[in-house]
Amino acid sequence: IIEVKHLSKKFGTHEVLKDIDFTVNKGEVVCVIGSSGSGKSTLLRCVNLLEKLTGGTILYQGDDIMKDTHNVEEYRKHLGMVFQQFNLFNNHDVLSNCMVGQIKVLKRTKEEAEQTALEYLNLVGMAQYIHAKPSQLSGGQKQRVAIARALSMNPDVMLFDEPTSALDPEMVGEVLKVMKDLANLGLTMLVVTHEMGFAKEVANRVVFMDQGVIVEEGTPEEIFNHPKEERTKAFLKRTL
Ligand code: ATP
Ligand code: MG
Repeated sequence: IIEVKHLSKKFGTHEVLKDIDFTVNKGEVVCVIGSSGSGKSTLLRCVNLLEKLTGGTILYQGDDIMKDTHNVEEYRKHLGMVFQQFNLFNNHDVLSNCMVGQIKVLKRTKEEAEQTALEYLNLVGMAQYIHAKPSQLSGGQKQRVAIARALSMNPDVMLFDEPTSALDPEMVGEVLKVMKDLANLGLTMLVVTHEMGFAKEVANRVVFMDQGVIVEEGTPEEIFNHPKEERTKAFLKRTL
């Protein structure tokens, strides 16, 4: 569904991503792992076009999205993104957080937006908090609302950038559980994570990045139990 071809990204002269190629197929969960500064967030931000690519391109369902600007807007409607820091609208309640994008971007009616929002808030177990403000919620609850908000836009692909790394340890599980449910529902997901347990259990494919390149990719079994590259072995030794 998404093919990244020869992607490169420089900040000034600093080349953060170098000739990255990878594919996310429909229904697949791809986890990206790697040490701090290896370029994982930049990669997601490039996939989502929050960053301008320095080189290479992205194909969405076979179409080159860089060919004209109309494609870019269309393309971004197919993606949902969940960040480390939730990025909820603090002056809106939970329900409204999940409705504004639908009304503004997708031009849905208030009724449609509310119905869709309730459906996904229910899915993430936050339906009883619809009138709470983000400030009244725990980190895990905020992140579940952020997931429901992204899902309410009915994206074809969900991008997650370390969705649990800002959470207190006791809240990590509830968010990973929701993500596992989404994977089981067949959602296509690209997940940057340092939760190796999640990657092992849920990913169809694991991509290991180091210093702006993809060092190795494979099934969780291949990457975690039979890594081929020295850099992968060294990383796993440090993290497991
Ligand atoms: P972490 O695990 O800490 O989140 P990461 O793998 O997500 O790390 P990135 O945030 O993608 O890494 O950063 C990769 C490199 O790009 C780092 O050296 C970082 O300093 C640099 N970088 C990221 N964003 C910018 C920016 N906006 N301007 C300049 N340099 C940047
Ligand atoms: Mg990051």
